[in-house]
Amino acid sequence: MSRIHLLDPSVVGTIRAGEVIDRPAAVAKELVENALDAGSTLIAIHAASHPERLIRVQDDGTGMSREDALLALRRHATSKIESVDDLARIRTLGFRGEALASIAEVSRLMLSTRCADELTGTQVESLGGAVIQVSGVGRAVGTTVAVEDLFFNTPARLRFLKSREAEIRVLSRIVWNYALAYPRVHWKFSVEGREDTDLPEARDLLERWEVLYGRGQEDGSAEFDHEAGGIHVSGVLGAPEQARASRDYQAFAVNGRVISSGMLGAALRQGYGNLLPGDRYPLALILIEIDPAQVDSNVHPTKREVRFRDEARVFQVLRGAVQDSMRRYVPTGIAFGEGGVAEPAPGAEYGGPAGAGESGGEGTSGTATLAPAAAALKTEEALMLALDVSAAEVTAGAQVRERGDVEESLAEPEIPIWQLHERYLIAPIRGGMVIVDQHAAHERILYEEARAHLYSGTGASQVLLFPSFV
Ligand code: ADP
Ligand code: MG
Repeated sequence: MSRIHLLDPSVVGTIRAGEVIDRPAAVAKELVENALDAGSTLIAIHAASHPERLIRVQDDGTGMSREDALLALRRHATSKIESVDDLARIRTLGFRGEALASIAEVSRLMLSTRCADELTGTQVESLGGAVIQVSGVGRAVGTTVAVEDLFFNTPARLRFLKSREAEIRVLSRIVWNYALAYPRVHWKFSVEGREDTDLPEARDLLERWEVLYGRGQEDGSAEFDHEAGGIHVSGVLGAPEQARASRDYQAFAVNGRVISSGMLGAALRQGYGNLLPGDRYPLALILIEIDPAQVDSNVHPTKREVRFRDEARVFQVLRGAVQDSMRRYVPTGIAFGEGGVAEPAPGAEYGGPAGAGESGGEGTSGTATLAPAAAALKTEEALMLALDVSAAEVTAGAQVRERGDVEESLAEPEIPIWQLHERYLIAPIRGGMVIVDQHAAHERILYEEARAHLYSGTGASQVLLFPSFV
């Protein structure tokens, strides 16, 4: 029974034509997506040091029957959709039935595959899109596609390739992003002479992230998970101080497909608010699950970009989720300026992107961790105490509880106090330190004195030479 079929011309007409294979990374991306669609648990990618000379992707997925293997290289041959309506329900990464044909056309391609129903596998070899040999082969269930001499018959495209390093970098990015987004898959990735990585199945996103980036929970990386109005966003966010000068360490996937998106990048950036300087980009893995009918994956020839039916909504949900997660870095009570991580009132709605209007967000707040708040109170209080402000000034009950600690710390006789630039006083206290702006402290002391005089009715006064009547 053949599972792959040629798409009806009417369907082909509605699909953006021409799967574009413009560089080696595009080959890797298509082959990896096919391996994932085939339900693989192990995917091994190998590239030559000049990736246009060889890219090989090997998987342990369903494999193909002999009949399917022959059809797979034909244009518009797919097992993934049948009608236009299927596009709105699409759950697979492929659907145009074009990738293998497009790759085969500009390379020497070797496809070797076996499905569980057949005892012998099939090997198909094609050159420039023409099948030159078909043979039986003994092999495990799964598929291996080897692409050699990419663009051998389109020298113009070959000339447009960037340096070997640049092509490898883009290709690696694609592989790493998929590895991040699919922690349950065992990935192997090797590049001749420089890279040889084995990533066994990981428990969850964070474990894979830790292995890949060498940074974990103790460095501030944190998983997040949030759902609002049918949009589920999850992933891992790096600590603000790990942010980079480029977007290279940001991965976005929509319904399992790794994409790039300026809109999602902006939402992520805004979620970090003032925690980052303007020219830094946080490390992040962002997974978005959304009803396929709400997203059009068919807007870009390489499916590198998607379009959401309600972009503003997705923007709000992602930004809100990131803000929520970042709240752990922001002591409550400290209000950030416009675009910062301000503390919204419970149930508050996040505004949309510029010009997005008020389509309203789901209540995303109320889940903030309050741990930093205590630290903030402590610092505030330490300042008060360092300034010898009267106890009446410390209003919140919780603050009083901490007071003993600080008082004790400061009361220790040998406590050192440093002065910096004749402007700041720095002193260690138990579990932290206090920094006092001398000038502000002096103003505060004068204010307290004036206030005390005013309320005691014994304020400093001066008799006027001539009485003034009001
Ligand atoms: P699409 O992925 O859009 O369907 P492709 O040209 O990438 O188009 O692949 C054509 C068909 O070949 C797929 O629909 C699938 O049935 C089959 N196929 C391709 N790669 C694999 C693989 N690694 N494992 C199993 N089947 C595959
Ligand atoms: Mg495909």
